[in-house]
Amino acid sequence: MIENTSITITIDGPSSSGKSTVGEKLAHNIGYNFLDTGCLYRALTVATLQRNIPITDTDTIIKLAGDIDIVVKPSTVEDGRQYTVLIDKVDVTWELRSSSTDTNVSLISTIPDVRHLLTEQMRSIAKGANVVMVGRDIGTVVVPEAPLKFYLDASIDERARRRHNENMRNGQESDYKEILVNLQARDDIDTQRDNAPLKKPTNAYIINTTTMKPKNVLKEMLRIFHTVI
Ligand code: C5P
Repeated sequence: MIENTSITITIDGPSSSGKSTVGEKLAHNIGYNFLDTGCLYRALTVATLQRNIPITDTDTIIKLAGDIDIVVKPSTVEDGRQYTVLIDKVDVTWELRSSSTDTNVSLISTIPDVRHLLTEQMRSIAKGANVVMVGRDIGTVVVPEAPLKFYLDASIDERARRRHNENMRNGQESDYKEILVNLQARDDIDTQRDNAPLKKPTNAYIINTTTMKPKNVLKEMLRIFHTVI
C-alpha cells in the first residue's frame, strides 16, 4: 500500500491507442478523477484557429495560452461526448475533434512555453485529488513520480479505424485515408519533438491494445492497479 494524499495514475501513448476510453473507465471504477490532457492542447488550437492566428506566430499563441480560460468538466449533454470543454465559458467540445484541430494541434504542442504553461495546470490538478491522467508526457515529464504508469499502444491501421468509427458514430464527416495520414504526421511530430516527446516511461506497464477489446484492457489495468496501489 503506497501512502500518498493524492495519487496520479498516468496513461501515455499515441492517438487512438485507447487511452481516453479505457482511462475514463479505469477512473470511474477506482473512484478517481479523470483528465484527458490532449483536451488542453486541442482547446488552445481551437482558440488559435478561431482567431485566425497563424500557426507560426508563436508569441501570439503563447500569449493566448495565458489569457484564455480552459475548463474541462464532466459531460452534461447526451450527444456522445466524453466530457465538456469550455473556452472562456463557451462550449467547444466538438470543435476539439475537427480535422483542422487534428492537423494543427501537434504543431502548437511543440511550442516550449505552451507546454510549460499547460504542464503547470496539469500538475496543479494532480496535486488536488486522485486522478487518472492521459496524454503523451504524463509519466515522463508532468508527473514522473507517479506510482503507477501505463503506456498503451496499437497499430496505426487499427488506430485509424477506431478514429474513423468514432467519427461515424458521432455523425461527423470522416475519411479513413485522411485520418491515417494525419495520425502518422502527428505520431512523427509527437515522438520527434525536442520538448517532452512521446516515449515509454521506463517503469510503465506497456499494453498493446491492437487486438484487445476495451473491457479486457480495463480488466488488465485494474488487475495491475490492485497489485501496485
Ligand atoms: O490525445 P490527443 O490526440 O487528444 O492529443 C492531441 C495532441 O495534443 C497530440 O497529438 C499531442 O501533439 C498533444 N499532446 C501533448 N501532450 C499531452 C497531450 C497531448 O503534446 N500530454
